[in-house]
This record gives sequence, C-alpha cells and structure tokens, in this order.
Amino acid sequence: MATERKKQFKTESKKLLDMMINSIYTHKEIFLRELISNASDAIDKLYYRSLTDDSVTLNRGDYEIRLIPDKEARTLLIRDNGCGMTAEELENNLGTIARSGSMDFKKENESKEDIDIIGQFGVGFYSSFMVADRITVTSRAYGSDSAFCWRSEGVDGYTVEPCEKEGNGTDILLHLREDSENENYSEFLDTYRIRSLVKKYSDYIRYPIRMQVENQKLKEGTGTDGKDPEYETVTEDETLNSMVPLWKKRPSEVTEEEYAAFYRDKFYDYEAPGMTIHFKSEGTATFDSLLFVPQHAPFNYYTKDYEKGIQLYSSGVLIMEKCADLIPDYFGFVRGLVDSADLSLNVSREMLQHDHQVKLIAKTIEKKIKNELAKKLESDREGYEAFWHAFGMQIKFGLYDHYGMNRDVLQDLALFTSSAEKKLVTLKEYVSRMPESQKKIYYACGETVDKIEMLPQTEAAKEKGYEVLYLTDDVDEFVFKILRNYDEKEFVNVCAEDAELSSEEEKEAVKKENEDSADLLNVMKEALGDAVSAVRFTGALKNYPVCLSSEGGLSVEMERVINKMPGASEDKAKAQTVLEINANHPIAAKLKDLSENDRDKLASYAKILYAQARLIGGMSVENPAELSSLICELMV
Ligand code: ADP
Repeated sequence: MATERKKQFKTESKKLLDMMINSIYTHKEIFLRELISNASDAIDKLYYRSLTDDSVTLNRGDYEIRLIPDKEARTLLIRDNGCGMTAEELENNLGTIARSGSMDFKKENESKEDIDIIGQFGVGFYSSFMVADRITVTSRAYGSDSAFCWRSEGVDGYTVEPCEKEGNGTDILLHLREDSENENYSEFLDTYRIRSLVKKYSDYIRYPIRMQVENQKLKEGTGTDGKDPEYETVTEDETLNSMVPLWKKRPSEVTEEEYAAFYRDKFYDYEAPGMTIHFKSEGTATFDSLLFVPQHAPFNYYTKDYEKGIQLYSSGVLIMEKCADLIPDYFGFVRGLVDSADLSLNVSREMLQHDHQVKLIAKTIEKKIKNELAKKLESDREGYEAFWHAFGMQIKFGLYDHYGMNRDVLQDLALFTSSAEKKLVTLKEYVSRMPESQKKIYYACGETVDKIEMLPQTEAAKEKGYEVLYLTDDVDEFVFKILRNYDEKEFVNVCAEDAELSSEEEKEAVKKENEDSADLLNVMKEALGDAVSAVRFTGALKNYPVCLSSEGGLSVEMERVINKMPGASEDKAKAQTVLEINANHPIAAKLKDLSENDRDKLASYAKILYAQARLIGGMSVENPAELSSLICELMV
C-alpha cells in the first residue's frame, strides 16, 4: 500500500480500532457474528427495495451470505449479495463508527474493562481487527457499474481504490493474524469451527449462510447387496443456519442465552435483558412480538436524545427501525420488535400513525407489558425493584403526564419508600395496612430519606401509627397532586395544614390556645413579614419545638422544584408557609412570657425559630448572618 494515498480514520474510530487490535479479549470469535449481521442488513436493504421498487428485479431465493475459508492463503472471506457500497459509502461507513453511542458508552464506562463492550455491546465491522491484520473490502453498490476496494492494515489508515467485482454486494476478506503461544487464529479457517460459530450466534439470520464443506459419503454402489461400504470425501454446499427468526419460534424452543445474544446483538446493549417478553397475539391484531426490558437505563435515557420505538416487521421484513407509535412514552424503555403479516410494506411513517392495525398492536403491547410487569412485581420482588431503580422515574412521569390519564395502567406498578422498614411499597400494600382510624395516605418530602425521617411531622404521623411514604424525587409530590387519591383515600402531605394528625380534642385545645394567643402570634408574624403566611400553635408535634407546614396546594418542596425548573418564571412560586409552634414544648411558655415582658425579644425569637424550622425541614437559612447575630445577642 502506498502510504501517500492513505486516509486517516476519524479520531473516535481510531481509538476503537486501537482497542480491537490490542485486545486481549478472549471471545474474539464474535467478529464473525458482527460481519454476518452486517451482511444480513445489507441484503435486507436490497430486499426491501425489491419489494417496493419495481426496477429492482430480484427474488428472495437469490440472496445468500457465503463464507469461504482458505487455509493456504490464511484468509476468510465473508461474501454477501446485498446492497453493496459506493466509494463514498465505503469511506463514510468504514472510516467512522456507525454505531452511534458506542464510543459515548465507552467513555461513560471508562473504568470497566473493554471486555464488556467488545463481547456484548458489539463493535461491528472493526471487531474483525481482533483476528485479522489485513482487511480488504470489495464492494459494488446495486445498480452501479463500478466496484471499489477498501484496504487497511490497522490504525495508520486505509485506502479506497476502484477495482473489479462481479455482481452487487460486498466481499470482506480477512487476512488472519499469525498464531501465537496464547492465540489460535487458525481455528477460524476450520469449517467445523465456523459452522458451530454460525449456529451459536447467527442461526436466526433470515438468509442462507452457505459454505463448502467436505463430507464423508457412502460411495454409490457400495454398502448394499453384500458389498462392503466404501466412503469418499465429497465437497458440497451446506446451509449453516436454520433461518427461522427467533421470534417465530415457540418460546419453549428458545433458550435464555439465545434471547440474550439476540437482544445484545440487535439492540446494542452490553448486558443481558432484565426481562424478555415473547408472545404471539391472535384475534383483533395478529402478530408475533419479542420485547425486552433492559437491566439498566441507557446512558441517554432520560435525555431528549433518547428515541423510543420498536422495530416493525411485515412478514419478516424490517420496515421500520424505530416505530414510536407502537409504544407509549411511559414504556419507552422497552426494546424489541413486532412482526405482523397485516401491514403493507409501503407504509410511510405518517400513514403508520393513523394506521388502525398499528393502533391495535400498540394497545395489545401496552397491555402485555403492563401485565408482565405486574406479574414480576408479584413473583420476583427483587427483580422488580431492580427494574424500578432503572425505570421507576419513567413510570412516575407517566403517572403525572396528561393529568393522570394513565393512572389505571400505572398506579399499581409504582413503588415508594415507606416508613415501614424503609422498604419500597406499592400503594395497594400501603392501603391494605392502614389502621381503621387512618383515612388518608400520608407522605413527606425531602432530599433524602434521612432528612424526611427527621421532619417533626413525620415523627407525629408515625407516633399515631400511620405509615408515611417518603418522597425523594422531584416529580413525586406532583404525581400525588395529580392523582389526588388512591382507592378513594386522599394523598396528604404530613406538612400540610389539613394533615389532620391531631385528634378532635387536641384540635379544640390548640384552637383555643391560638385564639388566646392571637396577640403573641401577631407579633411573631409581623417580625417574619412575608416569609410566612401565619404563625400558630400546634398539638401535633412531639419533640420538636417548631416546624413549617403549608397551606393550599403548593408545598414547600414543590415551591423548590418549580423554582429551579429551567424556564421558571420571574415570579417565583411561593408556598403558603405556616410556622407551627409545639404547644407542649417549653418554648411555648417562654414565648408567652416574652409576649408579656419583652416584645423585642419575642420578635428575635420568632426569627430564630423560623430559621430552626427551616433547618429541621432540610432547607437552608435565608439570612445566616442575621441569624448568627441574633443568637449571639442571646448568648452574651
Ligand atoms: P453497524 O453495523 O453497527 O452500523 P459497522 O461498523 O459494523 O456498524 O458497519 C458500518 C456501516 O458499514 C454499516 O452501517 C453499513 O452501512 C456498512 N456496511 C458494513 N458492512 C456492510 C456490508 N456487508 N454491505 C453493505 N454495507 C455494509
């Protein structure tokens, strides 16, 4: 290769390539799966064109992927008669990483060994550099008269030149590396080995993968009529794969490993799926479906870059890579495919949106996913909680979206941390444990469970024997506000004025106390200005001197969330905050004393107590300097 004509790989690709070349990964064999999968995609593309474009006159039976090992030359050729590539495509496709995200993924997981990524995420074409030191790709695009040849010996670049090639498609010629003490590359020239690799990784590929193999055959005319059997070696074509798409098989015929391998390969995950849902639907909508729930959210899942969608096949032909209409947003993490015979191949994205059949399929899929998740929640709590950690946020957004329209689908799938053993519970479980005296579902909000535990109101609710749901995600309280109730029991923030954590008698007593102390409370309210909407005594607190509660629909937590939202308006949302003072705490007597004897000091106390209430509630103090000098005044 003349160096001056060499072109450079893009930086990212170079890194990946370097990783491949120096790989100590033990399952280098996966390169074959990657190349066969590319070949199959290339045939898919052409086949699809032949179905929708009359100028492409090809029959399904014409397609094949062929493997040609050559022991003498130490080469393995992977040939397909698919769409092929133009010179430009060779350059663009093989000079850069096509699998968007694979490098981002690598960055995110820099600490992990490269093993995971190579073996399971799959790195496409470049993985062949794990076994080959020289690669020649000869390709001719369908409908073009000219062919081009891409050559590379690794990181220092590649060349693209015109060349000769009969027929459309792509030949990938790998020159295998020399065997070493630790590595045996020659095995990839062995037909038995190749056959077993195809079976293992590529059995479901829907085009025949063929190879010439030598078989021992009984010589004609021997072995019968008393003649001794004689054998001869014949070379014949063998189709190595069964060609039945995995989703067309019965679930009982497919092993977990096969599902996992299929999932990783098709959906570019580096680990096995958390859940596999394989079913056939008959009736209103007839289709096969194979769906997966990943174990973890993809790194971009909660960003706008993530595109939901399910592959859509029509009788085994891929017609859309990501059909968003098949899956509701709140199950957007589900990957997989649907294969229906009732869809036309020519449907466009726009038409699909209104397609009656697609709507039916989407409904069926939604129901199925819901039922499977509910089943998992019942039968495999640990597994379900792992799911919840990955995608619970999505389910909660789903509950909140569209004014709670999807509550029937989602509300029993949601988990919340509960004061009962600090475990995750469902709303159903919560309600089933409510004591008779409890009429509402109590929750408390805060940054962490520990902070919520320390809230005076949490203590008060627990004191009454009520379970409290601990909400730590920003969206949580909004969800409850939208849902309003569950099983006819209202959701109520323990910090809300209407939490009703006191008995009727207590309430009466406190009411009287508040009336009698109107003057005192007024002075305190004046001292605090707009920071609070009222100051009052409460009987609900046990040990804490003070707490903040809120009146009206907006809690202090919601105020915080709304105001930090991007695009929050200039007019800050403001919760109606009430400073509540524990009527049974010694501080109450002290305040009364001050109200009679030292009103200035009472004002200072109001400010200090308000600051304390904020701290107890897990918030910061608005004016630390003032607080500090107030405390010093008391100390000296
Ligand atoms: P991926 O297959 O994930 O897109 P690869 O690095 O394996 O990534 O391949 C890059 C691109 O090169 C493919 O997307 C495809 O466009 C093209 N390509 C690879 N192999 C073939 C082939 N045999 N025939 C036609 N195009 C191919």
